[in-house]
Amino acid sequence: MSTYFDHNATTAMSDAARDAWLKVETEHWHNPSSLYREAGAAKRLLDDLREELADRLGCDEPRRVVFTSGATEANNAVMRMVSAGDEGRKRVAVSAIEHPSVDDAARNFFDVVTEIPVNADTGAVDAESIQSGGVSLVSVMAANNETGALQPWREVAVKCRGAGVLFHCDAAQWIGKMPAEGLADCDFVSGCAHKFGGPKGVGFLLLPANESVAASLRMAVGGPQENRHRAGTENLSGIAAMLAALREHDEFLKASGSRRKAAERNAFEAEVLAAIGGSAVVGGGADRLWNTSMVVVPRHNNVKWLTRLSRRGFCVSTGSACSAGKGNPSNVMAAMGLDHEAMGRVIRISGGWQTTGEDWLAMAAAMIEVGAELDSGERSRSEPTKPF
Ligand code: PLP
Repeated sequence: MSTYFDHNATTAMSDAARDAWLKVETEHWHNPSSLYREAGAAKRLLDDLREELADRLGCDEPRRVVFTSGATEANNAVMRMVSAGDEGRKRVAVSAIEHPSVDDAARNFFDVVTEIPVNADTGAVDAESIQSGGVSLVSVMAANNETGALQPWREVAVKCRGAGVLFHCDAAQWIGKMPAEGLADCDFVSGCAHKFGGPKGVGFLLLPANESVAASLRMAVGGPQENRHRAGTENLSGIAAMLAALREHDEFLKASGSRRKAAERNAFEAEVLAAIGGSAVVGGGADRLWNTSMVVVPRHNNVKWLTRLSRRGFCVSTGSACSAGKGNPSNVMAAMGLDHEAMGRVIRISGGWQTTGEDWLAMAAAMIEVGAELDSGERSRSEPTKPF
């Protein structure tokens, strides 16, 4: 039985990814930039993997793919590189629910950051309402890491293209969970391997198709690697493992696995909502990733729930939500209208494609048990609370 429900934070490496990693470290560990035959084989493998990733993103120009250390590096680089090309006051529009690696980077590198609001019920931006006038970049993620809310990135891409504004999509939570094809219609796309069974410390950035825009973009200077966009010896074993994990996930998606998995997640939510009075699911009625459930639990702080669930072997998270009055309040929860107190009662439960229906039901049973335990321990002190 799997009791790991924090796949949106990270995943274990899949067997296929581990095998691919080991094979490269054993047979193709040579520097792809060197000139002997073995290095040539490593270089060819790197080229093949670049082509394969481009293809999986629906892109026929492998040159657009830059392998990175992950999504944080890619997101920061987009903000830095685009702002560097701006003249005068630098302006960007970012959604209100972006990961800090986008949001903080935007605030760090641009002078004016316009926030794109989300619908409080669905947690999604409205593509039509985006004001792209005067900004050089719009950034909207593909799927939210806390609620799983799917964003209309295809529509935003079309709108930005029409307005002549660059569009960046952080697809860290989308890739490996949803079909990746079509993402190449965005100018910039970021992703990382460790959210879908690949290793940590490897990811990618897709650059704009427009060569005259992409040619001058430099993530790191030094050597000529990555078509001069990012200097540094490539993490070939990590890249091979990332593609191995992506292949597996694409097979799972082709087999309509996500529909089946969403039904299992929904059964979990139905159990929890029926048995734990005062609980609610954030964005429950909206289009969401099939693996994610953000539950607002009643009465007791999420840290108390997490500690008791952890004792039972269940790994869940508070997302980046504010816990026990510590840390920064979650921009995602704030954008969806939760107040500070309710933010301290959110629990993010995120399964993987190996998570079974029984695992989800065991997770529900554990939550119900913990809720009863907390209520019985603190009955005299607890007061009724509204869900959020
Ligand atoms: N963007 C989103 C939406 C994420 O969920 C994460 C990871 O939590 C990141 C970016 C950062 O990715 P990485 O860990 O590869 O830097």
